[in-house]
Amino acid sequence: MTDETLAATLLHLRAKGLEKGAPVVAPVEMASMFHLPGDPAGVPGYGRMDNATWAALEAALGHLEQAPALAFPSGMGAISAALFACLSAGDRILVPTDGYYTTRLLGDQFLKALGVEMVLRDTARFDEGGFDGFRLVFLETPSNPGLELCDIAAAAEKVHAAGGLLVVDNTTMTPLGQRPLDLGADIVVASDTKAPNGHSDLLMGHVATRDEALLARIKDWRKLAGGIPGPFEAWLTLRGLETLELRLSRMVASAEAIAGRLAEHPAVSDLRYPGMSNHPALKQMAHGGFLISFTLESEAVAERFITTCPLIQPATSFGGVHTSAERRARWGDAVAPGFVRLSVGIEPLETLWSAMAEALPGARA
Ligand SMILES: *Cc1c(COP(=O)(O)O)cnc(C)c1O
Repeated sequence: MTDETLAATLLHLRAKGLEKGAPVVAPVEMASMFHLPGDPAGVPGYGRMDNATWAALEAALGHLEQAPALAFPSGMGAISAALFACLSAGDRILVPTDGYYTTRLLGDQFLKALGVEMVLRDTARFDEGGFDGFRLVFLETPSNPGLELCDIAAAAEKVHAAGGLLVVDNTTMTPLGQRPLDLGADIVVASDTKAPNGHSDLLMGHVATRDEALLARIKDWRKLAGGIPGPFEAWLTLRGLETLELRLSRMVASAEAIAGRLAEHPAVSDLRYPGMSNHPALKQMAHGGFLISFTLESEAVAERFITTCPLIQPATSFGGVHTSAERRARWGDAVAPGFVRLSVGIEPLETLWSAMAEALPGARA
């Protein structure tokens, strides 16, 4: 299915099974207990295992991924579930040096203590060095924050030949833009805190896989570890997903235009926008995304841009309706002090660009 078909049919998923008089939108099911006399098999039993609102969210996420999906209370909840459910003592995993830093901290502070060895490699050179001896290879493309790309299909082939599992963090693209499972990945993980929910008011994540054994194991991890999403957050995410394609189309179109203009701006260096890359991995992406990174002269200049532009929300995270930006060096990412990651929101383009141009060095006072 094309992204357009997926987005259109997403809005009518629930209609198929609807009884006359039922609400068109899935209700929020707030329940820990269910009425359960006698044999408990085959019906919802307890709130850590079953919830109709998660089920509705998972149906929507699964539709977009074209694979069974499990919802988690954050992106890290989803990543933890995939890693802890798949790894055991003695395993080696490969993780990007330049991807989301919390995944590396998880490996360093928790997986290591359980006997899992973590090896780091730059996304831009992910293929070099091969994948022999890795139980699991974790990939992020475009990576956050460096926006480096990697060919997922090529990596999947080599990882599988070496007997490993390929897990792809697809947060920066969303399933409407890139579907790693179609490219050969075994598991996709994502933070739905970002564009899928899109309104910067909750955290959510998901895992999707077409491997039934892995899916069952990850589901058991959720049930036993107890990291489950709240029904109301699941419901809000479902609402957010309904406008994902609409929001993305504005965000991506604006990001393309803004990336082109920033690239020509004399105060801007090292501009990176995946949509302007000539990397072969661009073929796996339906669009160039809404994230742009670039470097301004210094920390002070970058902070001035981020904090004085009235249409930029200074904040960490990305993918919301509000354009936002931050200096990643403040978190210790290996980037220049003036490195800015910009997440383009849904503000009308020309108004947004005028405000940005005013906040860049060299604007008329
Ligand atoms: C934000 C993010 C995560 C973590 O998601 P949370 O919802 O904050 O737990 C994981 N991977 C990437 C690439 C992210 O940007």
